[in-house]
Amino acid sequence: MNKNEEFEVIITDMSDEGAGIGKYAGFTWFVKDAVIGDKVLAGVTKQKKNYGFARLIKVLEPSKDRIEAACPIARQCGGCQLQALSYEGQLRFKENKVLNNLRRLGGFDLEKMQEAGFEILPILGMNEPYYYRNKAQFPVGRNRDGKAIAGFYAGRTHNIIPCTDCMLGCKENKIILETILDHMNRNNIVPYDEIKGTGVLRHVLIRKGRTSKKLMVCLVINTDKYPKLSELTELLLSLKFEDGSSIASISCSVNKEKTNVIMGAKIRNVYGPGYIEDSISCLEDKKLSFRISPLSFYQVNPVQMERLYKTALDFAELSGTENVWDLYCGIGTISLFLAQKAKKVYGVEIIPQAIENAKDNAERNSMDNTEFFVGKAEEVLPEWYKKNPDEKIDVIVVDPPRKGCDEACLKTMAEMSPEKIVYVSCDSATLARDLKFLCANGYELKKVRACDMFPQTVHVECIALLQRVK
Ligand code: SAH
Repeated sequence: MNKNEEFEVIITDMSDEGAGIGKYAGFTWFVKDAVIGDKVLAGVTKQKKNYGFARLIKVLEPSKDRIEAACPIARQCGGCQLQALSYEGQLRFKENKVLNNLRRLGGFDLEKMQEAGFEILPILGMNEPYYYRNKAQFPVGRNRDGKAIAGFYAGRTHNIIPCTDCMLGCKENKIILETILDHMNRNNIVPYDEIKGTGVLRHVLIRKGRTSKKLMVCLVINTDKYPKLSELTELLLSLKFEDGSSIASISCSVNKEKTNVIMGAKIRNVYGPGYIEDSISCLEDKKLSFRISPLSFYQVNPVQMERLYKTALDFAELSGTENVWDLYCGIGTISLFLAQKAKKVYGVEIIPQAIENAKDNAERNSMDNTEFFVGKAEEVLPEWYKKNPDEKIDVIVVDPPRKGCDEACLKTMAEMSPEKIVYVSCDSATLARDLKFLCANGYELKKVRACDMFPQTVHVECIALLQRVK
């Protein structure tokens, strides 16, 4: 078909990027901005051998799940791919995505497994699927008039769409960003230019502790010194927020590399102790409190994080006598959840600052049955196992980044043969691949549950329980 040629198509699925998928003339078409259940008029933008891309020209018959996007820039911005889909529609889409990946990439016959006791628990959705993120990283650039702007990249580009009050983020973002932008414009502080590699401010990272109401601001800069930093610090510290929040940590991260990686490797503390705190409620309303540094990973959706961790703890079925490993442990959140009900918990994580947080968090929550290691899970675990072949491990929890586990890590896990493996994943494709490996090496998939950590986007968190085959 030729470019711009129009055709009618019924959308039956959605891609990982959130495009509607439909079949027409023997081709699979990816139609941007169409949602499952729509009948649309589409215009060809690009055709490949077996598939093509098209744009939405007109919705001919809207899907029963189609709604008006709540955010005015939802279509331009790359962040929310699913805003035009009702929340129920989003949850159904995500649950199907997880199950289909398990079938297609994991080779699991889920229906047959269900007959033998395998459980698919319903997806955990949110009551209020907006303003849930505790962290945002805004790129900074300039508009046509040369003024500093902050916002989000338009889908698949690095063009910044100005937006300081994203509907997924916390409400304080807007005031903080506008204070920084205004200070830049008044003092001629030049935003970073990605192409030339010049300018000063690249990104602003803002994090909020939900329960502590403490905010962290980290300026990612392309120079060693940020101009008029003490003046900006004073301005930020004088800000008043509606819910009584206050800024507790200001820092700079120097990043002079020409890279898409946002944060530089080192943090320079400007104000405060270098971290903020947050707490998570867990067993019997007990709260665990955590310190979080700018470079440490921390789940972005605190409401769903609690439910995710509770599910992990449920799946692990600890009685107090178990030895447990928490692989990819970050600041030790899951580790401390588990440590309340286990004999001993070991954690490993690649970012040294996160392990510093983890040790500190364990101490402050009086969890002296924990031990943390800095390093790659795929190196630390095999080395530990070699040195401690007789220490029986009962449960291993893994929560890797999107690319999933390294095979060396999976192999060692299987060799250590814990009774249970609880796999927490933010990418159901790599989850399916890794579960396939573990099920070919002595494990059986018992339970799976999706958890909507990222409403309005195509991403979905998922948790799976594996049991050692007797
Ligand atoms: N379980 C934690 C963190 C999960 S995110 C939580 O719920 O907060 C995944 C973590 O894996 C990140 O902290 C990341 O820094 C870490 N990581 C990435 N690659 C790793 C590797 N090869 N070995 C160990 N940790 C790794």
